[in-house]
This record gives sequence, C-alpha cells and structure tokens, in this order.
Amino acid sequence: MPELAVAAAAELAAQLADLATEFQRSLPARLAEIELALAGLGNGRDEQALVELRGAVHRLAGAAGTFSQVAVGDAARRLAELLQQLLRAPSAARGGDLRAALQGALANLRAAVAAAVPAVARTAVELPGAPAPRRIFLIDGDTPPAAEIAERLTHYGYQARLFATPDEIVDAVRRMPPDALVFDLGSAGELLDGTLVARLRALAPLPVLVVSARTDIDARLHALRAGCDAYLTRPLDIAALVERLDDLLHKTDHRPARVLVVEDDPITARALLAILGSAGILAEVVGDPGQVLLRMQETLPDLIVMEMQLPGCRGDELVAVIRQVDAWQGVPIVYLSVEIDRDRQLLALEQGGDDFLAKPIDPERLVRVVGARIERARRLRSLMTRDSLTGLLNHARFMEQFEIEATRARRAGAPMSVAMIDIDHFKAVNDNHGHAAGDVVIKSLARLLQQRLRQVDVIGRYGGEEFAVVFPETPRDAARCVLEEIGRVFATLCFRRPEGNFTVSFSAGVASLEENDEPRQLIEAADRALYEAKRLGRQRVEVATAGPGGVA
Ligand code: GH3
Ligand code: MG
Ligand code: MG
Repeated sequence: MPELAVAAAAELAAQLADLATEFQRSLPARLAEIELALAGLGNGRDEQALVELRGAVHRLAGAAGTFSQVAVGDAARRLAELLQQLLRAPSAARGGDLRAALQGALANLRAAVAAAVPAVARTAVELPGAPAPRRIFLIDGDTPPAAEIAERLTHYGYQARLFATPDEIVDAVRRMPPDALVFDLGSAGELLDGTLVARLRALAPLPVLVVSARTDIDARLHALRAGCDAYLTRPLDIAALVERLDDLLHKTDHRPARVLVVEDDPITARALLAILGSAGILAEVVGDPGQVLLRMQETLPDLIVMEMQLPGCRGDELVAVIRQVDAWQGVPIVYLSVEIDRDRQLLALEQGGDDFLAKPIDPERLVRVVGARIERARRLRSLMTRDSLTGLLNHARFMEQFEIEATRARRAGAPMSVAMIDIDHFKAVNDNHGHAAGDVVIKSLARLLQQRLRQVDVIGRYGGEEFAVVFPETPRDAARCVLEEIGRVFATLCFRRPEGNFTVSFSAGVASLEENDEPRQLIEAADRALYEAKRLGRQRVEVATAGPGGVA
C-alpha cells in the first residue's frame, strides 16, 4: 500500500514536471508569435487581431503562473494591460508613450523568456557547470591568513575580494554590493569598527561576519551590537565559516509560495488574489468546495485560506475532510470569517485549522500571517526530509526523488546517471582526529557537492559517509567528468587540526539508466562501480557498463 502510494505520487510529480518542461520549451515559440503579431499591428486598426493577441498574452501569463515562471508571468501581465489600454482607446496608439511602453514591456518579456529557457534547454551532452560564485568582501586585518581565507573560500563557490582600508570598501560596496562582508580582525585582538559596519549597512543590507582572535564575551557583545550576524574565532575553521555563509545566504526555500484560496464570492476572491499577489505569493481561487481536494492535488499548495461560509458546507467541515487525507496533515490552513463567537472559532480550530483572520481583511495582517505560516511549515518539512548534519536529502527522500527522476527519464527517453560516492579511509579520520573532525569532513563534502552540482541534480546523504547523486539528462561520461573534477578539488581541501593537518579523498561509482533497467538496478550498478573504484586503489571514479554485474 505505501509502495503504491509512493509510485503514484512519483508518477504524478513526473507528469507535472513534464508539463512544466513542455511549457518552458514552448516559450520561444510563444514569444515569437507575440512579437510577430505585435509587429503586424502596425498602424492599422485591426481590432480582431488585437483581441487575439491579447488572448495569447493572457494565456501566456496564466500558464506562467501555473508553472511558477514568475518573471515571465509578470512581464506578460504588464503587456496584456497595455494591449487592453490600446483596445479601449485605439487612438492612444498614435501617441509615443503607449508605443514606447509596449516596446518596453516586450523587451521585458523577451528578457524573462531568455532567462527561463536555458535551464531546460540543456542538451544531454552539456556538462553540469558550476554555479556562479557568490561574492564576498573580506576586510583584511593585516595578517597573512586573510589571503589564505580568500583562497580557500573559492573551493566552496565563494569569490572573496580583499580590502585593506575602510574607504576602499565603502566605495566598492556603494558601486556594487557583494553577497556578504567578512571582517577579519587579525590577531592583534582589536575590536570591530562599529561605525564602519553602520556605514556599510546603510549602503546595503548585507550579512556581516567577524573573524577574531578574541574569545571573550565583551568582544562578542561589541560585534553583536555593531550588527554582526556571526562571530567566529581564530584559529579559523574554514568549514564553519562556509557553513555560516551558506546559512546566511540561502536561509530557506526561495520558490514562490503557493496559496489556495477557498472562497465562493468572486469579489472577495479577487481582493484576496490581489493582496497575496502583491506579496509575490502565487494564489489561486476555488469557489466550489467539491473541487478543493482535486485542486490541492494539482497545485500542491503551501497553505490554504478557507472561507467559513461556503455553498453547501461550512469551512471547518471542509477542513475536517482535508485533514482526513494523510498527505494534507501538515498544510497550514487559515480561516477567513466574520465569525466573532469565540466558541465557534475554537471549534473551527479543533477541526484542524491553524489560525483565524477576521473580515474585513486587513491586507498587511493577511500577508504576514500567511507568510509566517508558510515559512514555518517549510522549515518543519525541511527538518523532516533533510539530513541534520549536512542539510542534504535524507535516504528516504533521496529514494523518492530518485524514483521521480527515473520515471521521468524513462518516459522521455532521456539519459540519466546516478553516482554513489564514499569517502576513502574515513574510519582513519575518526580514529586519528576524532568524530567531530569526521563530521566536518562529511559536511565539507556535502557543501562542495551542493556548490558544484546543478540545481536540477538531486543530492542525498545515502548513509554515514556515503552520498548519492542523480544527474538528470546526463550521460554517464559527463557525470564521471564532473565527479572527477569535484574529487580533485575535494582532495586538495586541507583540514586543520592541532595535532596536524590532513586531506581526504573519495571514490565514486557511476551508472546510467538503460532502456530495460529497473531503477533499483541502477543504484546497485553504481554501487558495484564504487566497489570497483575502491578495489582499484580509491580516489577515483569508475563507470558501470550496461547489463547486470558489469563494470568497465
Ligand atoms: P573505505 O575507503 O573502504 O570506504 O574505508 P572507510 O574507513 O571509509 O570504510 P568504512 O565504511 O568501514 O568506515 C566508515 C566509517 O564512517 C565508520 C563509521 O564510524 C563512520 N561514520 C559513519 N557515519 C558517521 C558520521 O556521521 N560522522 C562520523 N564522524 N563518522 C561516521
Ligand atoms: Mg562506507
Ligand atoms: Mg568509506
């Protein structure tokens, strides 16, 4: 029974993912059609052509919303508004303003489409490239290690620029703010310059990290009051610095939030959509209670806004029905109501709702309550599905994602590779340097994989010091090249310990999905290739040949 549920969910998710891909692939053609129609409008007053064009732009905006292409959706909506103005007042077209606005909106749409397409138009032979490095400004405390910190940060996808004087850095932040600031206070034990931090913060709201030789509470308080986000002490553990940077820079999930609004009154519904939309939330309305479960399955909302008075049933009854479905136990539900009777409110909360918002709606309160509930729900979900040491998918969640990708690849006839990665002689690391040092090594490899692999690649902590990666749309040789490169970098990382520095390597096995393979066989084949890599001396990547048992 659970097997079946997982398979069905995988199939559904794969179908949805396919549709999203199809939509992205259709973007250039849709754009070309719109550009052509716009050019064709010329000076003639062909109302029919204009209506059709507006329809095409509307459909594009709607579909973009469905597939979370926020920028494309925004640009299309803006263009649709302008076309609407043109329809209402055709003579306005002779004015230069509307014409210029149309051209501007079209240019925005072009840019949004260009940004949306390359992510999926990746061809099978393209190697997974490293993401653009994040920029860090490092304030050099006049000690040689600052340059070394900068050098070591590059291995983790951070590009650090060194500054020696406050004026230089203020100037540079003004011109182009980096992603974060690191104050290296050197070994003289000086305190952080709070005025400088305040000046920089006024220019851009940046995370500020401090590296200091002082471990006393006064120095820490001083930094805190100056507005710092993290305080690290010397000798600097570079992995800890990277971890804090990672935390501060991609705190949570950046997907736009999705909200399903259950509301039968069209005007209230429009108001709710406008309010939520203005906060960057993708919202959709269902007026018919009978359609709610179906729409939830299709849109996978992060939160539900539930009207209390609905046609044919009450909101809290519908909530009780939603909570009967296992998959929807965790989704936050916020009631909207004119109900002020406290007892009725409490009863409604007992049915499984999370909060009450009174009508008339206070837009700011609505956005804040919805936003906070979504963030918290996502955090809880991430705690349940992610490994606590590395933040990667845990074993169970990795396997689920793996099934989804495998189903998708087989249907599309696309290549897909899987890698199993295992740290070499890891027991010796624990034995010689302690378990905590071992944990740092595991975290470093996790971070390196996250930095070097693509967004579409699925990375899991498969077991203790074992990792697994799914490379969609990637043949095995391309996956092997990438892993070899990551392996070279990993082997150069120097872990610092009082008893002596050390380096570590990993071995990996890669296999790719062949037409007749069962997904499980793929993992087994990658595992056999990993074993072969160990047998051949470690610190290498081996590729499985097609067919059971074979290793090239
Ligand atoms: P090989 O090159 O053959 O892979 O050698 P190995 O020493 O890495 O092999 P083995 O799999 O026998 O050892 C793995 C060790 O990893 C055993 C276990 O104590 C340790 N380990 C597993 N999980 C963790 C963890 O979360 N933290 C730390 N520090 N150690 C862990
Ligand atoms: Mg192992
Ligand atoms: Mg090992």
